[in-house]
Amino acid sequence: MERKWYDKGEKTAREERGAGEGAMIDEERLKILTDGAKYDVSCSSSGSGRKNTRDGLGNASMAGICHSFTQDGRCISLLKMLMSNDCVFDCVYCPNRRSADVPRASVSPEEMCELVTGFYRRNYIEGLFLSSAVLKSPDYTMELLLETIRKLRTEYRFNGYIHLKGIPHADRALTERAAAYADRMSYNVELPSERSLRLLAPQKTKESVFAPMRQLAEEKREFALEYKRRTGKEEGRGRGKFLPAGQTTQMIVGASPETDGQILRLTQFMYRKYDLKRVYYSSYVPVVRDPLLPDVQAGLLREHRLYQADWLLRFYGFSCEEIVAEDGNLSPEYDPKCAWALRNPQFFPVEVNRAGVEELLRVPGIGAKGAYKIVAARRYAALTFEDLAKMRIVLKRAKHFITCGGKFCGAKTLERARGELILAERADGARQLSLFDGAEPLTLAASPEEKQFLLKSSPEAARAALTGQF
Ligand code: SF4
Repeated sequence: MERKWYDKGEKTAREERGAGEGAMIDEERLKILTDGAKYDVSCSSSGSGRKNTRDGLGNASMAGICHSFTQDGRCISLLKMLMSNDCVFDCVYCPNRRSADVPRASVSPEEMCELVTGFYRRNYIEGLFLSSAVLKSPDYTMELLLETIRKLRTEYRFNGYIHLKGIPHADRALTERAAAYADRMSYNVELPSERSLRLLAPQKTKESVFAPMRQLAEEKREFALEYKRRTGKEEGRGRGKFLPAGQTTQMIVGASPETDGQILRLTQFMYRKYDLKRVYYSSYVPVVRDPLLPDVQAGLLREHRLYQADWLLRFYGFSCEEIVAEDGNLSPEYDPKCAWALRNPQFFPVEVNRAGVEELLRVPGIGAKGAYKIVAARRYAALTFEDLAKMRIVLKRAKHFITCGGKFCGAKTLERARGELILAERADGARQLSLFDGAEPLTLAASPEEKQFLLKSSPEAARAALTGQF
């Protein structure tokens, strides 16, 4: 029997279960455990790239792995499954909570390993998103998850992508060990304030989520520093040895009364403090009836606006204080960048033939690619509105905020611009863009080396390049 490397006076999951148990999972349990994982949106495609080894199985792909879509259009690219839905916690919003009357199931690490490698060989999946309800105790569950991914990596030689959900309150040593095998880990914040956590997820605390996030961020930074000391090079994006795809988290929107302003402040805090790769927002769906929960769905438009604001935080140099007041919500009428521009007319119009990239990035209708194209193209000739249209700048929004060679084509008054922007938004249906919208290959007016650099670089590095800080 494997030596117990972690001892808190209780049996390891492996000892308790006994080694050599049958490794076939039946369809019934598979259905329960995959169904139980579907409300977690904190996984998307892979963020790490790793080649197969000679005797290994599979590889992790930078550009996203096999994608599939849930009924409501969310993208899932991995086998997304729980080790168990038999939870000892009682979070009010969760269909797997202790007091819920639902069928329960669990799988052993061997069963999970067989399933993953079997699916991989059949080309059904290219990776795993592994989570679990709290079975018996946080440490017991974390140990089970750890044993599963350790086996996958070392015994089954599985080299594909693994996103592991960490269990709040589990021991630091378990978190550290698990991070050595996973590509990405996530601890879900779920509710944006301590007060709501106390009310709706009484066994969780803010610290039980933030402590492992902080630990992983520190360990990742130390690892990167050590790598640089040893090799003199920076770790490539997604190719580091320690959690190459970083950390993510998820917040449920609309189950508790926090405003968008509070949600975005927490988001900004986590991006800055814990170097999170992504914060996912999941609009609340009333799958559980409880007097503490709203009866109505939060709606996808609110989720969509939060993702737009999140984009502004990560790629456009905005701070949450500029986007929305702490006690306020994002406008449902137009996107957060339009709303900011309308509140700050003193910065507009900007002359596209002279403005810096940072100014261009703040113009509604001009995205990061568009700003870069403008700066590259105007080196050769002064740009006209026709040129901007060819660059696929969204002129129905941008025209109210720019001049081209001194010419202005927008609305004469702010009120009128506001009206036209609302109409433009309605014409687009304020829909959540599909992954495949605008999926034409990235065509940048740049040298092949510059293109390669931007395509490979992290958002921060790309932004620094775009804004000329290099
Ligand atoms: S810990 Fe809470 S959210 Fe997670 S499975 Fe258990 S009841 Fe659900």
